[in-house]
Amino acid sequence: DPLIKLTDVWKIYQMGEIEFAALKGINLEICEGEFLVVLGPSGSGKSTLMNLLGCLDTPSEGTVYLNSEDISGLDESELARIRGQMIGFIFQSFNLIPTLSTEENVLLPLEFQEEDREIARKKASYLLEIVGLSDKKKNLPSQLSGGQRQRVAIARSLAVNPPIILADEPTGNLDTKTGDYILEFLDGLHEREGKTIIIVTHDLDLVKYATRVVYIRDGEIEKIEDRRKNGSSK
Ligand code: ADP
Ligand code: ADP
Repeated sequence: DPLIKLTDVWKIYQMGEIEFAALKGINLEICEGEFLVVLGPSGSGKSTLMNLLGCLDTPSEGTVYLNSEDISGLDESELARIRGQMIGFIFQSFNLIPTLSTEENVLLPLEFQEEDREIARKKASYLLEIVGLSDKKKNLPSQLSGGQRQRVAIARSLAVNPPIILADEPTGNLDTKTGDYILEFLDGLHEREGKTIIIVTHDLDLVKYATRVVYIRDGEIEKIEDRRKNGSSK
């Protein structure tokens, strides 16, 4: 069974009298261990799709399944529980808490899970080590470079060891070299740990990491390119 399945999903935004269909009948299955890149121009519905895949929002019509569970009708507290167990988020703007140190930012998702403070701290230390920021534990986000902030965001997204990593324009604010480093790191998580990676972007360069590329335009899937068969996914 697919890890995530969308059947005839519509998302309609209501602005007073006006309705706008941001997603128009999306059908998509995502299997465990995929590295999916969703590509499309600005305004094509990528963020809207990302919000549905990440259980941040529910569809206006159609069904979203996660692990064969229909999540379309769940309320916010139920969605939050599923997000906490299943999904690590990486955003373009990092979404770090500016008043908390690097270490405290990574600890944040663990506060709701790990009862033992010492275990949580050890986990945070380990995560900061694997993203190469052991020496920046006490720094505030403002005292880090862009690439370092993104690495803190990655460490935080991995804190609860989610099977799915969702990234919205993860390299959008980074220079090419730093962006490549972040992508190589995500690729490693995919290769070594079998994480399911979903990246939403307008950056064509990211396609080289993908097992499949979903091209989206005006709220519809234009085509899906499968890159696994010909071994050219690297
Ligand atoms: P992308 O991420 O590809 O730039 P979005 O999913 O953010 O696209 O937006 C898709 C379309 O839906 C855009 O035309 C946008 O203006 C519209 N849209 C997005 N969010 C809202 C909202 N909350 N209310 C009304 N329209 C929205
Ligand atoms: P990059 O070239 O990767 O963007 P920067 O030039 O922003 O990196 O930063 C280089 C180094 O200086 C980094 O190790 C960063 O941690 C450190 N640094 C940057 N800004 C500050 C700051 N305001 N306070 C302390 N250290 C900083």
